[in-house]
Amino acid sequence: MGAYERVVPFPGWTLPGVIGLAASTVILKSHRVIPASPVVVAGCGPLLFAVSAGIIKAGGRVAAIADLASARDWLGTAPALALRPSMMTQGLQWAAQIAKARIPVFFQSTVLRAEGHEGLEKVIIGPVSRTGSPKPVSEACFHASCLIVGHGLVPGADIPRLLRAHIRFDRDLGGHVPVLDSCGRTSIAGLYATGDGSGIRGAETAVSHGKLVGLTAAQDAGRPLPSSWKSEVDQAHKKIAHVRSASIAMARLMALRPAQVDSIPSETIVCRCEDVTRDEIDKAIDCGARDINQLKHFTRCGMGPCQGRMCGDVIQELCALKLSIDRQAVGQWTARPPLRAVSLSDLIGTFEYDDIPIPNPAPL
Ligand SMILES: Cc1cc2nc3c(=O)[nH]c(=O)nc-3n(C[C@H](O)[C@H](O)[C@H](O)COP(=O)(O)OP(=O)(O)OC[C@H]3O[C@@H](n4cnc5c(N)ncnc54)[C@H](O)[C@@H]3O)c2cc1C
Repeated sequence: MGAYERVVPFPGWTLPGVIGLAASTVILKSHRVIPASPVVVAGCGPLLFAVSAGIIKAGGRVAAIADLASARDWLGTAPALALRPSMMTQGLQWAAQIAKARIPVFFQSTVLRAEGHEGLEKVIIGPVSRTGSPKPVSEACFHASCLIVGHGLVPGADIPRLLRAHIRFDRDLGGHVPVLDSCGRTSIAGLYATGDGSGIRGAETAVSHGKLVGLTAAQDAGRPLPSSWKSEVDQAHKKIAHVRSASIAMARLMALRPAQVDSIPSETIVCRCEDVTRDEIDKAIDCGARDINQLKHFTRCGMGPCQGRMCGDVIQELCALKLSIDRQAVGQWTARPPLRAVSLSDLIGTFEYDDIPIPNPAPL
């Protein structure tokens, strides 16, 4: 099922003009639309620089970049990236474009708040500690028409969750992932998981793992397999191992930082569908909510149209922090069908497989 985008809430994040980092990639690459300039780009991970370079190339203006990671964190990824020269070259090209455009990059920094009346007007950036909590020492203010912000990706594991497959929490893989064997089998016979839905590991791993899981599923189902299937399985395993350290290094930069979640101010909206604030979540826990589903019943958080896809990961972290328990113990919201809003006409219509519109992959 791919991944969802994570945004750790801050005051003003629901203002018109604030959009997701992953969402902006889609707007830029697939729809060829440049976000309104000047733009501030903030969050963590390689998409920060990919998006900033993409906006500059398309003729937009980036006012500033705020990266939660430090320059030292990025240097720490060099040994892993050295094994993937194409990734390293791509990253250096983005950095060169950003330097040439003289865009200030604030490392180990975050958006403290976004301000505006009808829409976004100003973005205030400040430094954070190594763990991600804001340090009240200085602020920099940028006038901006658009703030692009993202704090990593969360695996889309809704189907295994709905079917009650065994799930585990792995921060480095982006969150809750189905428990898998080495060929992508879940704990439920006939149910397999691959790609971002089995853990955030990037496009190359997703392709190789997808092939491996497809061949395994065909073999388990007793379908005829190409004579080369065993060598294809071996090759897929080798490719996954080859890109592993670079994938892990990138995923770690995007992993959720508990200290950042803990510093969400009390009046900030956390569940934007139901307008539930940090304060209401804390009070519900003080009143006895002991897991994520109880919290939902107490406050309605996660009950809106997105069904917790936007806020679930952050609310689980808040719950774990407040109760001083680990993330696995907090649990996940119970999944219910339909997983996505579907119109009745789509449900009762007659379709051929070929009728399904498959978008072309976005150009690099
Ligand atoms: C904005 C963005 C930029 C990225 N850039 C890079 C990059 O530069 N380099 C890199 O290595 N990786 C990058 N990645 C990660 C990379 O895109 C993923 O690792 C890869 O696409 C994962 O493949 P996948 O098949 O698991 O998921 P996807 O490619 O996301 O495919 C999942 C598919 O499942 C479908 N789906 C979801 N739910 C349902 C459902 N309930 N029923 C039916 N279908 C469903 C979706 O519509 C989608 O077509 C990026 C990711 C994002 C979000």
